Amino acid sequence: MEQKILVKKIFQDVINPGNCFHCGLCEGLSKKLFKMSDSVRGPIPKLIRKPILKDIPDLKKILHACPGRGFPYNYLSTKIHSKKKSKLVGNYNDLFVASSNKKDIRQKSSSGGVVRSLLIELIKSKKVDFVCMLDGKKNKVLDFDLLITNNLNKILNVSQSIYQTTPLLHRLKNLKKNKRYVFVGLPEHIASLKVLKLSYPKEFDHIKILISIYSGTNMYPGAIEFYLKGNGIKTLKDVRKINWRYGEWPGKLRIITKTNRILSLKKFYYNYLIPFFISKNCLITPDFTGELSDISVGDAWSPKLESKGYGYSVIISRSKLLDKIINNLQKKNILSLKKINLINAIKMHAHMLEFKKVGSFLRIEKLKKKGPVPQYDLEPVNVTFSRRLIEIIIGIIISFASSNIIKSSFSFINSNFMGYLFQSLRKFWKHMSKPTKRKGLKNLKFIKVNNNRLKEFF
Ligand SMILES: Cc1cc2nc3c(=O)[nH]c(=O)nc-3n(C[C@H](O)[C@H](O)[C@H](O)COP(=O)(O)OP(=O)(O)OC[C@H]3O[C@@H](n4cnc5c(N)ncnc54)[C@H](O)[C@@H]3O)c2cc1C
Ligand code: SF4
Repeated sequence: MEQKILVKKIFQDVINPGNCFHCGLCEGLSKKLFKMSDSVRGPIPKLIRKPILKDIPDLKKILHACPGRGFPYNYLSTKIHSKKKSKLVGNYNDLFVASSNKKDIRQKSSSGGVVRSLLIELIKSKKVDFVCMLDGKKNKVLDFDLLITNNLNKILNVSQSIYQTTPLLHRLKNLKKNKRYVFVGLPEHIASLKVLKLSYPKEFDHIKILISIYSGTNMYPGAIEFYLKGNGIKTLKDVRKINWRYGEWPGKLRIITKTNRILSLKKFYYNYLIPFFISKNCLITPDFTGELSDISVGDAWSPKLESKGYGYSVIISRSKLLDKIINNLQKKNILSLKKINLINAIKMHAHMLEFKKVGSFLRIEKLKKKGPVPQYDLEPVNVTFSRRLIEIIIGIIISFASSNIIKSSFSFINSNFMGYLFQSLRKFWKHMSKPTKRKGLKNLKFIKVNNNRLKEFF
């Protein structure tokens, strides 16, 4: 009976109310009980057989480490033994702007090529045996899988940022306990793995290092088809290759069709797809940087660096081992590093940090009235009326843009025009909401929340 109750809880708390983060853990930890299955609202676990008594330990682990139930980040931060504390970016030792000095890495990277530089170093220095990272399947378009490899060439040529909800933890049981792995993932993947490592240390000791990429917004499948329609291409079957961050930083969306037509749109222009396809999971998490990682890497957005081009990453180093590795990479002239302070690191992402640290709680507050929501152990206090008003407007825009009828009407409009319009409206909106949001971020205070999810960790 217990196995049925546990499965029911996963469905009632997470899958049915639409709180699934699409991480793939349900499949990755169980023995052919769940299978991730595609849907218009992202990949969702499907039950493929009846649960049996033997499934109970796996089901308990899934429930414990499921991002869709939320994590007590404040409590878990006490397990990250770094020198400095920040409620906005998590505990850390040092902050850097960085870039790879290897032309072939930097040119093909999402930002500064830091992630792949680290992975190559970890394999070369034998700190791990394999890297686990998301990559496109060979000769497939918009079809991704976990790549488990120690082949340096494969690591070098892995896909750039993939802006589509995609499972990453669905092959966890394929990892060998006598090998050592480094995982690259989004904040929710990394938080889930860290929780497993903390709560079941022996069982997950083979996962040695956790690298998180920053994650602001992600999109449901369909965004590319929408973009194609706006360019007169009917179906994904006509496409040969897609790159989300092609060319010089910040890169372009570049699509090559089977008839060798090339479509390309600047990164800040194709952000117009976000309101139409934004995934719910990125609206209900406060974790932007991957606070439970050993090291986090994002784009180093700043007018000065953006005008230089080439590609720059921001690094949050949270562990002694990773501190040592990045310093060695600097000494070997593989990475260029420049220390920055917390104020500068926050400035690069002030808008998104506020969107996560304040916005997520306002959105969860609203969703609570309808059913189960993820639970976190910190909440912002004294959120102003004007900030709440901004959230109402964001909510109206997203629910309007994500309705099927609106999507199908807008899909025929030329993407360059949409991109230009969106970028102009975004600039205007950022300018209008900046005083409220910046003031809110500066004065942001949190209170601790004692909930049932937190109690599961004691
Ligand atoms: C959905 C999404 C949203 C993001 N939002 C932001 C943001 O708001 N602000 C910001 O500063 N940065 C964001 N990033 C991170 C940024 O795009 C870069 O990935 C990061 O700066 C690392 O760049 P790099 O040049 O060091 O990585 P590279 O050396 O180019 O390596 C990229 C790594 O990312 C992995 N990867 C790519 N897509 C995914 C994915 N969907 N899930 C798991 N792993 C993946 C690849 O497997 C590879 O290991 C986002 C990334 C994604 C995928
Ligand atoms: S978030 Fe992950 S663990 Fe939770 S239900 Fe979805 S796939 Fe399963």
